[in-house]
Amino acid sequence: MDRVEEVALTAGETPLANALTLLRVAAERLDLDPGVHEFLKYPQGKLTVNFPAKMDDGSIRMFTGYRVHHSRARGPCKGGIRYSPHLDEDEIAAMAMLMTWKCSLLALPFGGAKGGVVCNPRELSTGEKERITRRFTSEILSFIGPDVDIPAPDMGTDAQTMAWIMDTYSMGKGRTVPACVTGKPVSIGGSLGRADATGRGIVFITREALAERGRTLADASIAIIGFGNVGGVAARIFHELGARVVAVCDAYAGVFNSRGLDVPALLRHTDRTGSLEDALGGDPITLDEILSLDADVLIPAAVGGQIHARNASAVGARMVVEGANAPVTPEADRILRDRRVFLVPDILANAGGVVVSYFEWVQGLQYFFWTEEKVNATLEEVMVRTYREVRQDARKTDDDMRLAAYLIAVRRVAEAKTMRGIYP
Ligand code: NAD
Repeated sequence: MDRVEEVALTAGETPLANALTLLRVAAERLDLDPGVHEFLKYPQGKLTVNFPAKMDDGSIRMFTGYRVHHSRARGPCKGGIRYSPHLDEDEIAAMAMLMTWKCSLLALPFGGAKGGVVCNPRELSTGEKERITRRFTSEILSFIGPDVDIPAPDMGTDAQTMAWIMDTYSMGKGRTVPACVTGKPVSIGGSLGRADATGRGIVFITREALAERGRTLADASIAIIGFGNVGGVAARIFHELGARVVAVCDAYAGVFNSRGLDVPALLRHTDRTGSLEDALGGDPITLDEILSLDADVLIPAAVGGQIHARNASAVGARMVVEGANAPVTPEADRILRDRRVFLVPDILANAGGVVVSYFEWVQGLQYFFWTEEKVNATLEEVMVRTYREVRQDARKTDDDMRLAAYLIAVRRVAEAKTMRGIYP
């Protein structure tokens, strides 16, 4: 039995098993050719590299890195690079597949990829991170590129990491290639608006979902799990637009105020101290308490699998907008659906980052750069149009938003594969 099947049949709720289950459900509904379904289960390419890096104390350490291309059917691959001690090959494969569906749903001309290095970025100096990044980039040089696979930041990596990748790639090619990564600093061809894009996209989607219920952001209460690039930025924009952000938490602490938190003050606090511990302006709150809060909207924007079979029935919000990737397991999904909690799935809700990455790639290829107003307005147009498209399909077929989104996304990739045919 091959590896994919083995994982799918034995692993229960692992990210890859969950991703394969979602694909199978969509394939059955679309009546996909079994051969095309089989094709979509596998990553098209996978590179594992073991490489040395010199540490600050002069010692040499070995690191393992991965890059997975799930699908090249609709264009070059696109996806994040993660630095984490818990990096798992199967989770990377699942995330690469998720990226394929996300790019397809948003009608971006990309397939999905994901990768990373097994390391703890918190324990590395800037110099060590730079040497690891440059060596990893050299190891995967033939596997990435503006028309092959375009990495972006993910957990544990940032704009600086992308700058080192871009520089190393460019040195290898003998010319500057800005379009080989996205999420890089604006000074070397990054896009205005990219840093806020995922959080901003979540706000656009939440606003649309509330509007359908005759509500506005100004009269909504929002609870957010995770206070980083996604949760922190979304909290800031919600606050700017007049929504009441009543609770936020990170990996260390949480804070609650039913009248609404002073989000800019909390962001200053986390910038200064690195966490929400000892934050002022509200009462301490635990993750379990946030989950059960009677808020209009709950945004899990931290890590995968946080809402699962054992806590889904405690969710107190009427709407869940998935900020993180796969924060709700399939079992929890069923529980929320039975309880009529409206859920906007990750491949739609948190797609703002990859949409603006697409704009950054286009700007890099054309050497012609957009204003921040144009970036934000085009992001809004794409996010709102896609939300309405998924919503309309969900209404027509009485499916939940996740299945409706998957049906659109998987159908487009399958169509592309079928049109291209099998080589030779
Ligand atoms: P980040 O590292 O900037 O922030 C993560 C936040 O979650 C931090 O505040 C951290 O303390 C908190 N956190 C971690 N573990 C937690 C736990 N067990 N309980 C509560 N809080 C916890 O990461 P990010 O870029 O904001 O990404 C968050 C999620 O969103 C990830 O799943 C990521 O894959 C996904 N995502 C990110 C982007 C993006 O553009 N950054 C785009 C799409 C999806």
